[in-house]
Amino acid sequence: MIFTSGPPRTSGSLQVSARAFTLKLETNYHRMRVLSRFLAAATDAAHFPAPSLPEVAFLGRSNVGKSSVINSLVGTKLARTSSTPGRTRSINFFEIRWPGKPRPEVIFADLPGYGYAKISREISQDWPAFIEPYLNDRPTLALCLALVDVNVPPQESDKQLLAFLDSSGRNFLLIATKSDRLSNNQLRNALKGLAESYPSSTVIPFSAKTGVGRNEVWQKIRQCVAEAPATAFQS
Ligand code: GDP
Repeated sequence: MIFTSGPPRTSGSLQVSARAFTLKLETNYHRMRVLSRFLAAATDAAHFPAPSLPEVAFLGRSNVGKSSVINSLVGTKLARTSSTPGRTRSINFFEIRWPGKPRPEVIFADLPGYGYAKISREISQDWPAFIEPYLNDRPTLALCLALVDVNVPPQESDKQLLAFLDSSGRNFLLIATKSDRLSNNQLRNALKGLAESYPSSTVIPFSAKTGVGRNEVWQKIRQCVAEAPATAFQS
């Protein structure tokens, strides 16, 4: 197996809280070394890899910063940041292995960007063909990360995606991307607006530039992977 590695790093530190006399293990996901391997690019359901490990799906409008989020989490250039919005029309699967573990633990599924005016017709053709079946039927899908640009007012296509995820019963989180572009005050207001627009969602501000939100997202991913029912992974 050929894995590419993220920036070299230690995975954790042990701390003793003098006050509570409790031992606390703090994992520093921010510095976690992650190994990754490209698995497959699927343009129809027949080409999805056989369900095996828990999967995390990344969804968002073209140019929302999806590739940057994936690359920031993994610590290397795994997903291609595209200068041509909406160019990637396949679901790209990557195996992710934690440091010190002998085998991969989770699969990242990078879904095609949607909602870009020029290609919206093509993308909307792809949705019923294989994206919706993936989101509805994939037995190993443990968590959906719905990305929205926190600098842009809520868009109709984002609302549709969030409504779809809400009704699908899937675990999902709303990732507010490019949060570094706003001042603290602006960000607070924008997050409040997102929470009002999507009341059933947990919103996590994220910046691929500064690393804000990276630890929190990793924590949620690891939690979902730990809780994923083993029975779901028998194909
Ligand atoms: P994708 O099309 O959704 O994969 O988006 P990309 O990851 O290619 O990013 C689109 C554009 O937004 C690029 O110009 C990135 O440099 C920029 N971008 C992405 N994430 C961030 C971020 O966290 N902060 C800032 N300031 N710019 C970002």
